[in-house]
Amino acid sequence: MLQEIEPEQLTKAVNDATFLRKYDKVFLQFDREMKNGHSWFHTIYPQYKDKTIAYFSFEFGLHSSLPIYSGGLGILSGDHAKEASDLGLPLVGIGFMYPQGYFRQRIPAHGWQEAAYQQLDMDQAPVLIVTGEDGSELKVTVHLAGRDVQARVWHVQVGRVPLYLLDTDVDDNDPWDRELSARLYSGDNEMRIRQEIMLGIGGVRLLRALNIEPAVWHMNEGHSAFLIFECIREKVRSGLTFAEASEKVKAEAVFTTHTPVPAGHDTFGFHMVENYFNGFWDDLGISREAFLALGGHEEPWGMAFNMTVLALRSSGQSNGVSKLHGEVSRKMWQEVWPLKSLEEVPISSITNGVHIPTWVAGEMHNIYDKYLGPDWREQRDDPAIWQRLEDVPDAELWHVHQLLKRKLMSFLRERTRRRWIDGRNDPTQVLTSGTLLDPEALTIGFARRFATYKRATLIFRDLERLRAMLLDIHRPLQVVFAGKAHPADDPGKSLIQHIYNLAKHNNMGGRIAFVEDYDMHMARYLTQGVDVWLNTPRRPREASGTSGMKAVINGIPNLSILDGWWAEGYNGANGWAIGSEVDYQDEQRQDEEDANSFYQLLEDEIIPLFYNRDRDKVPRGWVEIMRETIRSNTPQFSMRRMVKQYTTDLYINAINNQE
Ligand SMILES: *Cc1c(COP(=O)(O)O)cnc(C)c1O
Repeated sequence: MLQEIEPEQLTKAVNDATFLRKYDKVFLQFDREMKNGHSWFHTIYPQYKDKTIAYFSFEFGLHSSLPIYSGGLGILSGDHAKEASDLGLPLVGIGFMYPQGYFRQRIPAHGWQEAAYQQLDMDQAPVLIVTGEDGSELKVTVHLAGRDVQARVWHVQVGRVPLYLLDTDVDDNDPWDRELSARLYSGDNEMRIRQEIMLGIGGVRLLRALNIEPAVWHMNEGHSAFLIFECIREKVRSGLTFAEASEKVKAEAVFTTHTPVPAGHDTFGFHMVENYFNGFWDDLGISREAFLALGGHEEPWGMAFNMTVLALRSSGQSNGVSKLHGEVSRKMWQEVWPLKSLEEVPISSITNGVHIPTWVAGEMHNIYDKYLGPDWREQRDDPAIWQRLEDVPDAELWHVHQLLKRKLMSFLRERTRRRWIDGRNDPTQVLTSGTLLDPEALTIGFARRFATYKRATLIFRDLERLRAMLLDIHRPLQVVFAGKAHPADDPGKSLIQHIYNLAKHNNMGGRIAFVEDYDMHMARYLTQGVDVWLNTPRRPREASGTSGMKAVINGIPNLSILDGWWAEGYNGANGWAIGSEVDYQDEQRQDEEDANSFYQLLEDEIIPLFYNRDRDKVPRGWVEIMRETIRSNTPQFSMRRMVKQYTTDLYINAINNQE
């Protein structure tokens, strides 16, 4: 922002006494905030205020200006860091600065997604280079199969929480090594193991170089699990045996697993691990076999080194990200504890949440300010606060929602206009990217990664039945889609193409839109402006999902499979459940029944309720559901509830286990 302001304007501000008084006041307030004397953590756990929690994640979704995230995992890490700041947790984040980020999605007229990478302008990005005591760039060195690879470090200040991001684009590195952290989730398995060694081992060294002594190591997903080896090595070097050292590290380690999809867990061939860790076992005082066995796991193609297994075996506490995902994970990983019964498998669950100040629309925020009282932001995880929603008049809630819906539609039109001006649109594409959407029509939103288990095309199973709803003259339905497929995921890309081609077809009446380049910015508009948020994963593969929670805090009810968080969130009156909580063996049948349930809910309940208006044009029954979804889901699925739970259930436990 400062770079975009005209210098004359800044000069004027410097000479404006009123402005300067305001400026000083804001900074005084900010400094007071940053000291965090009254924060939750300092009040509840004053004795632990000097303990540091090191939080490792492969991606952090803080803001669309820093494109170092791809989806749910990154958003969760970003929200976790923000809430840790709000609560005064002594947390430090460790991750990667990807100078080319995750890709920007382009969808040409044929519908096959293209990936474009842009070099981030570091001078514009909200990052600062970290320097050492002598003023030169701080460097972290990690040995990678015969060569030393260096990383410089970027600092992002997330409120009170510092985030340190490794970046191997350093002059001294070989070209191949400079590319190591260029992009998020690109490259082959070899690239992946090199990144994970850099994050795990390099991350520990980075903290040491900054004189930070974490009391807790939180591995958000298995990508960072090699940190275990470095932590054990440090302790062995200081004189402990391997058994003693690994016992101590275990007490300090917390691990969160994020996916019930087997392919979502990184595995490496033993030869690859051996190549990179040759001799490391000597430092730990164990044999090569014992070393490899720490991550050893029987995969469909034979024994391999599994990062999740390494993390599970080496962490004192492990958790999944929803109740159902906890159950599924205990089943999935029971074999890691062959002597334990299913109930004894030590994987608990803490359901995900979202950072409310990040995702709530300004207009909804105003409503909450007006009716929930001044303490609602501080007490946002307290269900009692949200009971006060009863006082919000139906018409007011409805009108704010209408306003947000119109905002979404102008946002989509404006993006289309930009593309049109840039010459990147043919006329059909102008129409399919949301310009035909009608602010009066019932609007479903579906935006997520295009992984096949998310079943983005489920609603097209019976085209005629869907078309009848889309083309209904009096009570039309429309659906807006967005989302990226991983660049190497051709099945995911063909789902996008399938929807894109349907959207182009005139027999859909312009009621299906596909908007390109889904990111946090667009996610805010979508989760604030549609009428219904749709999720159709193949149960039970959605570990949690969080976009539906963003919708909830903006009064948008969910229409979703009873998977992930919705299996806990649905109460019969706050949205709709597609299908039932059964386990299918036959995927065809599952698709058939879920699609049927989707059509039936729309035909029998959702469409009639939405279009049932009072004399003043307010759909009373609908607004009741909006109110109930905010009331029942917001406190429970807030990041505040989640981070408090991680703190009391896991972090404090880990600290106590060491004493
Ligand atoms: C919230 C969010 C996600 C995660 O959504 P799911 O519900 O897990 O699919 C992914 N991408 C972006 C850009 C988001 O904002």
